[in-house]
This record gives sequence, structure tokens and C-alpha cells, in this order.
Amino acid sequence: MPLPRAPKRIPPLFLVFPVILAAALALGRYAYLQSKALGVQSEQAIRDSNEAVAEQVVSVIEKEIIASDHTLFELIDLSNLKRFTDRWNENVRLSPNVDAVVVLDDKQHILALASRGGREGRFRSLFERRILPALGLSTLAPDQHKHLHADFDGEQVLISFTHRKSAGRDYYIALSVDMANVLGQLLPAELEDLRDTSRFSVVDSSGRIIYGDLLDGHSGFLYEKPFPSTLWRWRLQMAPRNIWQLVSESSRRRAADVVLISFSLLVITAGMLVLLLAVRKQQRASELKSEFIANVSHELKTPLSLIRMFSELIALGRVKNPEAGREYAEIITRESDRLARLIDNVLDFARIERGKAAYDFATGDLAEVVERALDVYRYRLERERMTLSSEIEPGLPPTRLDDNAMTLALLNLLENAVKYAAPGAVRVTLKRAGEMLELSVQDHGPGITEDEQARIFDRFYRAKNARGRGVRGSGIGLSLVKHIAEAHGGRVGVRSLPGQGATFTIAVPIAREALPESEPARPLVSPS
Ligand code: ADP
Repeated sequence: MPLPRAPKRIPPLFLVFPVILAAALALGRYAYLQSKALGVQSEQAIRDSNEAVAEQVVSVIEKEIIASDHTLFELIDLSNLKRFTDRWNENVRLSPNVDAVVVLDDKQHILALASRGGREGRFRSLFERRILPALGLSTLAPDQHKHLHADFDGEQVLISFTHRKSAGRDYYIALSVDMANVLGQLLPAELEDLRDTSRFSVVDSSGRIIYGDLLDGHSGFLYEKPFPSTLWRWRLQMAPRNIWQLVSESSRRRAADVVLISFSLLVITAGMLVLLLAVRKQQRASELKSEFIANVSHELKTPLSLIRMFSELIALGRVKNPEAGREYAEIITRESDRLARLIDNVLDFARIERGKAAYDFATGDLAEVVERALDVYRYRLERERMTLSSEIEPGLPPTRLDDNAMTLALLNLLENAVKYAAPGAVRVTLKRAGEMLELSVQDHGPGITEDEQARIFDRFYRAKNARGRGVRGSGIGLSLVKHIAEAHGGRVGVRSLPGQGATFTIAVPIAREALPESEPARPLVSPS
């Protein structure tokens, strides 16, 4: 009676696997997002520091211009404008920041004017014509301080002006800031030290570069800051100098992170898959082993009970006639042969499993071994209503072989032909194929489906045709044949179409000494 199967349990690993994979994926995603955020953060830090530098530069330049204006405003003695020109020619000459000073009364008439380098006439004309109307002095509150930044006749002008009261009278003072000084001293003093780390330019309202380099290709990292109260037609543009190096370094780091994370995920997934496959294989092996134990016990019990039953009949004298007696004795012989073969198989198999299989190789004649085995087995085949035919190529070269092992392999193939293909014809052929000898056993039984053909050589594996039809067996015969063929330096294969029989072929190499030295090595012919 077949043993009841234990209910299938889902191994915890099959449940743990998706959880571990999900955790690894979540970890990978987290690491990726972190690395991305870090990249964004470091880019933002670069932007912030660039902005801070630009703001600082603009603020210092503004403060410097305003501070210098205040100092000069303070120097003007509105109560004594008579000596203004003498003193102010001197002041204007000495001060690097202004190139002209004008004092006006409440009617906006020029009371005094001093200009550097004898440009007085030209400056007065420009002031009266263009500058004065643009200042809007009538709206200027006392002590209010303003700037006019303009382009007059192609000339950049920065006028710093204020409204003062002295002895009850209103005065307006206007200073013309020296633009050559702004461009030649003020801007370089604040910007040139930054050249190593930053790129910068000062541009006017139409984008024309007034000072510095052309800044392009800095999208996302270019910061623009207008001068809010003095040079308000101009803007300072600033960008980090080695930005592409920084950006490419950060994206390289990010790419390395992505590669590393993907690789780790891949390793984890592959590791889990390998583990899963190993567990499945192990599980399958243990299932097969239990099946094997059940099969072998069954295989042992059947011949034993037959032997016992017929020997008892003989012992009790319950034999009707000598013919029946001979038949009983034949059954006993056949069943003990079967028992002996099964035990041989199991013992050899156990040796192979323990890695202790030892072969006794000697140079021999495979044809002789085959003929001897067929002689022994012919009778059994005939009893099973199988017709045996054999074709052995004459004069075959010797091979290195273990007689007993090779006989066991052939008997296993013949036994299978009996088990699966009886009644019918069995054909055994032995021939040379290149540097190999090929021994084939062909039957016309049910054959083996293509997907099972590779698996029938696995230990304990029994194909559907065996399991379904209740054919007795243990699933180790073909694995033994395979081991024996490989131990001989050869291999075993099967060629079969379901319903049209099967041909099993063992190919073993011809002994080296039997090959002529000059004979070129020929490719091995597949036995299947
Ligand atoms: P078993 O003890 O089951 O015969 P084997 O290892 O000898 O174990 O064979 C493995 C399986 O291969 C068998 O269970 C059977 O399904 C299939 N097989 C072997 N030989 C034949 C054959 N000649 N014809 C059809 N199927 C075969």
C-alpha cells in the first residue's frame, strides 16, 4: 500500500524571500533618494554661497560709493562759497572718487562748480543740458541723498546729489562720481580677488558687458544682483568658476551610487534565487529519497514473497508434475536474480552517493562483455516475450573498462526495456563512431517525452510513464548507468519519440594505445 503523503508545507523561505526582496528594494530606493537629495543639497550649497558672495560684493561697492559721497558732502562749507572753487579744485583733484562738484541755490542756479582736469566747460554744459533736468531737485527733501545713473551722449554718468539747508537757505549739492575710478579701482578691488573661485561680470540694462567676462553656459548657477541705489542701471552677474567640475563630480558620485545600489540589489536577488533553488532542490531530493525508500522496500518485498511462496510449495511437495516443479524453480531463480540485481544497484548507488565508487579498469574488449551479458539475459528477455537481436561490429578496438560495471549498465538498460517496452523487440548494437564505441539498446515501448529525457538520468527520477502505469522501480538505474558511462570517460544519452520507443546509447572512448599516433582527433559523436 502506498504510504500516505505528508501534506505539503510552504517552507518559510518562500514567504521570507519576497519580504527580504521588498526590504532590499526599499533600502535601495532609500539610498538612491538620499544620494539624490545629497546631490541637490550640494548644488544648492554652491548656489547659496555664490549668491552670498555676489550680495556681499554689491553691498560693499554701494557702501563705499555712499560713504565717499557723505565725506565729500561734509567738506562743503555752504557759508563761504567764495573760496569754494579754489578749495574744491584741490579736493576734486585729490579725491579719487569724484571728478566734479556742483553747488546750486534753491532756484537751481549753479552757484559754484569745480571739475577735474580742466573739463569744467564741457561738464557745465552737460550738467545744465542733460543732468540737471534729470535730477528732479524740486522734489528732493532736505538731507535726502539720491543717485542718478544714466547714459548721456554715450557717456556713463553717476551723480550723487543731496539737499542741504544753511543759514535758512536751501542748497543742492551734486557730485559726479568718477566712472573711470569705479571701473579701474572700485570694481577690481572687490572682484579680482574672487577670480580663482568665481566668474563675474557687470552688465548694463541692455546686457552689454561693462566689466568682467562673458558668462554663458552656467544655467542654474548664474546669480544676478542689481546695484540697488547707486549704479542702478548695472547688474553684477556671478557664477562659481569650476561649476561643471563640481556638477560632474556630483553626478559621477550619483552614478556610482546607482551602480553600487543596483549591484547590491542584484547580488541580494541572485543570492536569494540561488538559495531558493538550493532549498527547492534539497526539498525535491528529500521527497525523492522517501519515494525511493518506499519503492525499494516494495521492490525487495515482491521477489522475496514470490521466492518464499514457490519454495514453500516445493518444500511441501505441492508440485503437480515435474513441468510445474521446473517452472517454480525458474520463478525462484528469476526473482533471486532480480533481487540480486536490485541489491547490486542499491549498493553501487550507495557507494556513488558516498563518493566511494571504485572501478577496476583494465584494457578489454567491450564486444565480449556485451555478448556475455546478452547470453545471461537472453533467457529472461524471451520469457518476457521480447525478441532480442544484436549487431556487434566485428574487430572493434579495445577500451579501458570495468567489466562488472559495464555489464551492470547494460543490464539496467535491458531491464528497463523489459519493464517499459515488453512485449516487443529489443535491439542491441555496438559500433565504432570516431574515437568512441557506441553501445545502444533500442526498444519499441512508450518512449519518453522530450522534457523528461534530460531528467530520467537524475537519481530517483521516475518519468510519468513509470509512475502512471505502476511499473516497479526505484529511479536509480539510469543514474547508475550515467555514472558508469562518465567514469569510463564517456557519456549516456537517449533518443526517443513518445509512443515510438527509446534508444539509449552509452558512448565510451577507445583505449589510447589502440589509436594510431598519426590519426587526427575526430570530434566525439553525440550518443543521443
Ligand atoms: P526505474 O527504477 O524507475 O526504472 P531508472 O533510473 O532505470 O529507474 O529509469 C528512470 C525512468 O526512466 C523510469 O522510471 C522510466 O520512466 C524511464 N525509462 C527508463 N527506461 C525506459 C524505457 N526503455 N522506455 C521508457 N521509459 C524508460
